[in-house]
Amino acid sequence: CGIFAYLNYHVPRTRREILEVLIKGLQRLEYRGYDSAGVGIDGGNSKEWETNSKSIQLIKQTGKVKALDEEIHRQQEIDLEVEFDVHLGIAHTRWATHGVPSPVNSHPQRSDKNNEFIVIHNGIITNYKDLKKFLESKGYEFESETDTETIAKLVKYMYDNRESDITFATLVEQVTQQLEGAFALVFKSVHYPGEAVGSRRGGPLLIGVRSDHKLSTDHIPILYRSSGKDKKSCSTLPRMDQDTCLFPVDEKAVEYYFASDASAVIEHTNRVIFLEDDDIAAVSDGRLSIHRIKRTAGDHPARAIQTLQME
Ligand code: GLU
Repeated sequence: CGIFAYLNYHVPRTRREILEVLIKGLQRLEYRGYDSAGVGIDGGNSKEWETNSKSIQLIKQTGKVKALDEEIHRQQEIDLEVEFDVHLGIAHTRWATHGVPSPVNSHPQRSDKNNEFIVIHNGIITNYKDLKKFLESKGYEFESETDTETIAKLVKYMYDNRESDITFATLVEQVTQQLEGAFALVFKSVHYPGEAVGSRRGGPLLIGVRSDHKLSTDHIPILYRSSGKDKKSCSTLPRMDQDTCLFPVDEKAVEYYFASDASAVIEHTNRVIFLEDDDIAAVSDGRLSIHRIKRTAGDHPARAIQTLQME
């Protein structure tokens, strides 16, 4: 029902600050109604992250966002003062469609007990039963009654069966091609630390960008997978690699917010990009790129960075 994610890139934030941003984001979405809430953040301390023992921690609760916040502060083992230079936190308010309101059915949903991949989802996956049957035949055990859990497990299945190195954006693109129904999704993974991927079809999703500098462009060019060597598609921006244009160009410090509703990001930034159906938006190394599977007639070659009117 409500999606909110926060990525700080070379903007040091304590876990306490990160959780405050996430909880406030969810509170801005409360008016839409929901029955439970949850967050997914990096576990351990930032030093452990640098030395490769990565983990993701989930905290989920039925009831109000306030109840989730209390649950976070009850968890003694969470060190709130640890500082992260780069971090992605994802947060969700759920309006149950498949499975009763309960902590295990709340989002983020996860791929496995180690939380390798986690996902937040608004909407309904209509072919989840087929996907679930397939994944069960591959040995996956489901813990929730949600349609969403199939997405988390499918992304791990695709990752484990990859033929070569694969970007997070490409992985999510392959997953969303298997999904039917309506969705807005944001993914986080221990395999792609500090990276966020969002996608949508039939559900709203936007990205807020905050930087201390003036942004070097007012649009994000769209990259098409099927014509990956299309050098022109970065438009006025320099190209970083086949999958990424350099946006923002010079920024060494930037913050991104993914949300289902602009009201959740307006207190942080008024620069937003509204995604369209079948867009895959990825932040990797602090750079935002938007991909589409294939060109279709009438496609706009870029997404405008809009300036919201402050309240
Ligand atoms: N269908 C998903 C579920 O029941 C997501 C519901 C929502 O949009 O909050 O978990």
